[in-house]
Amino acid sequence: MMNETLAPSIGEKCGVFGVYGQGFEAARLVYPGLWALQHRGQESSGIAVSDGERIKVHKGVGLVAHVYGEEDLDVLTGQISIGHNRYGTSQKSSGEHHSQPVLRRDKSLALAHNGNLPSVARLEGFLQGNGIPTTTSNDSEMMTDAIRHLLSLGVSLEEAIAESMPLFTGAYSLLLLIADKLAALRDPRGIRPLSIGELNGGYIISSETNALDIVHANPIRDVRPGELVVVDEGGLHSYQLAKGDQRLDIFEFVYFARPDSILLGKSVYGVRWQLGANLFQECPTCADVVLPVPDSAVPAAIGYAHASGIPFEEGLIKNRYIHRTFIRPEQRLRERDVAMKLNPIPSVLAGKRVIVIDDSIVRGTTARNIVRMIREAGAREVHLRIPSPPVLYPDFYGIDTPKQSDLIAARMSLKGICEFVGADSLFYLSYRGLINSTGLPESVFSTSCFTGEYPIGIGERAREVQKIIFKSD
Ligand code: 5GP
Ligand code: MG
Repeated sequence: MMNETLAPSIGEKCGVFGVYGQGFEAARLVYPGLWALQHRGQESSGIAVSDGERIKVHKGVGLVAHVYGEEDLDVLTGQISIGHNRYGTSQKSSGEHHSQPVLRRDKSLALAHNGNLPSVARLEGFLQGNGIPTTTSNDSEMMTDAIRHLLSLGVSLEEAIAESMPLFTGAYSLLLLIADKLAALRDPRGIRPLSIGELNGGYIISSETNALDIVHANPIRDVRPGELVVVDEGGLHSYQLAKGDQRLDIFEFVYFARPDSILLGKSVYGVRWQLGANLFQECPTCADVVLPVPDSAVPAAIGYAHASGIPFEEGLIKNRYIHRTFIRPEQRLRERDVAMKLNPIPSVLAGKRVIVIDDSIVRGTTARNIVRMIREAGAREVHLRIPSPPVLYPDFYGIDTPKQSDLIAARMSLKGICEFVGADSLFYLSYRGLINSTGLPESVFSTSCFTGEYPIGIGERAREVQKIIFKSD
């Protein structure tokens, strides 16, 4: 999310949660909301709140559980609030400096961003043309500054957002807070999710529906691609600022979202289950047990076990108090983290032909460690099955898929990857099988990490991407 002229590609996939309700202690709802969105970002967390006049913020590095104490929430009083969990991937990007919500010194506007702008040229041009410095700002800060600038000229929040939206060239699900309004804006492709709920006459806006559930809000609908939603004392107002063409990032279904969330009307759990069932149909394999790599591959492994009749077992136990390995940027640390996080159960694995299911292979580090771990625990055969196609292309819209040259499937054939990870066999679900499992048409998705088709222009970043033809031998 940092200005790419400073540091290239700091992708972020975050969680946002906002509340507006007469008489609410809004931050007391944002806090559990962020707790439920912890899977979308573990690097830092923040809550901004308005008491109708002044905006305050509390932010910190680490998990939600570490960032807020009772005394912090005590001072976050007011009935409008937004929160953010940040998902960072590079050491350079870590630390307080990048935590959100963004709140500049004038405290006129707080902003929380899930997504990424692959190109900031237009935004930079606008800001520099108006004498606003950009050199130390990341994309989210530049968006904040553009809207603040327009607000300072005396226009309404709605007008300021409408006018600056054409400058936002990329993926964004945004929450914004001014003294007396909550606003939500989704890019015209709706790459990242954003849903609206109702609670006792107030409104909640959340990255995922699972967080609406835990505050007992009733889900109403998604914020539409290209739509601005504003909540104020008059209620909820909708403005379709740009023509929408829904292209949800399909990786939300594959990996990122929680299984108890609903995306595009579909249960994430149900889709993952079907991914697993289709995986077996495409490549039936004889084995004694099916195991998931916990937690993300559990629903797919259950679907696979049902379709195949092979018993589902837990053979790898996850330490749930260590957060995701992926955010450790250094390779050696990442490898060690896998062993700290997962421990095999030899009595489940010894002498067995094992099907092991992981949701995806990115760099290949996890798969390699897991296959080794399962063999060391005594498995006779290890067949790695992936309920999604090979990840061939980097992401520019806010997930951390790294440089294309770090993606193992962009460098090696199926056979090469199978050898690298040390499995007896390897199979990836087909692209058709992926789409079919969602029960939705291909046209509603961004599939860029599998197909290289980017539904929002990636501008100058296109230079970083090469067309790949994946070879199966
Ligand atoms: P690898 O070790 O191949 O780089 O990563 C694959 C593992 O990372 C899989 O177990 C998968 O669950 C997880 N994974 C896939 N995509 C992402 C992502 O965007 N962020 C994080 N934190 N993990 C991911
Ligand atoms: Mg995983």
